[in-house]
Amino acid sequence: ESGEEASRENASLRDKPGTGNTPIVRYQGVTKSFGDVQVLKGIDLEMMPGEKVAVIGPSGSGKTTMGRMLMTLEEPTEGTIELDGELLWHMRVKDRLVRADEKHLHRMRGHVGMVFQHFNLFPHMNVLRNVTEAPRKVLGLSKEEAEERAVSMLGKVGLADKLKMYPSHLSGGQKQRVAIARALVMKPKVMVFDEVTSALDPELVGEVLEVIREIAEEGEMAMMLITHEMDFAKEIADRVIFGADGRIVEQGTPEEIFENPQSERLQSFLQRFR
Ligand code: ADP
Repeated sequence: ESGEEASRENASLRDKPGTGNTPIVRYQGVTKSFGDVQVLKGIDLEMMPGEKVAVIGPSGSGKTTMGRMLMTLEEPTEGTIELDGELLWHMRVKDRLVRADEKHLHRMRGHVGMVFQHFNLFPHMNVLRNVTEAPRKVLGLSKEEAEERAVSMLGKVGLADKLKMYPSHLSGGQKQRVAIARALVMKPKVMVFDEVTSALDPELVGEVLEVIREIAEEGEMAMMLITHEMDFAKEIADRVIFGADGRIVEQGTPEEIFENPQSERLQSFLQRFR
């Protein structure tokens, strides 16, 4: 198939990891089935370092599943995913691809930060502990080092004065900002934001989007933003992907996608947000 040929050609032109031309994320021919139901039907997607990609599309089209695969929470049924030039779900043994072992997955997982719709904070830990836990356990930082990083990240998301609070005493917007700090503190290569404002009361959405906007403006980190906030996608994204029925139906700049949608599917999807 011509798409496959083109991506193979791409691969041969690609530079070594760490040099600017390597995509930071690369899905190739990725499918995913749950039982008999195929929810992803062949995803090819590359994200460049620092690129902000918004993923939009109807509910159930497989957006979350795409993000969860990057975070190693779901395993692809077919195809490969690379992170910064390294296979994520597979390892190369001689000339064969084999399923990655837990050690490999664990190491790769450390490069991806994910923020979910439902915060998933540790309820029995205060804000500071929520953010220091992974740097200590996964990166092996000392308590002092982890706290220094955590305090700086919590400052960045506007929660420097909430270090000792427990999640149950925070608003939804504050909880979500803790979750963002918790992901950022690991210094991931890619951040996945999955519908992070969907569970929030409308008046709390703005403060969370503002924090994401600031992170995006810093520019270094690639971001996959799965969202129903079309205005926000338009403002932040370098590229917008429209997924439906397990495929990427259309992609382009925010102008192309929002001002000049080509497919009928995207046109009717966007109608709902007018
Ligand atoms: P979106 O994020 O676009 O709403 P999802 O990736 O969450 O889509 O879901 C795609 C489809 O896969 C849905 O029909 C959903 O019910 C199904 N699905 C997701 N996770 C599982 C799972 N663990 N087991 C079975 N079905 C699942």
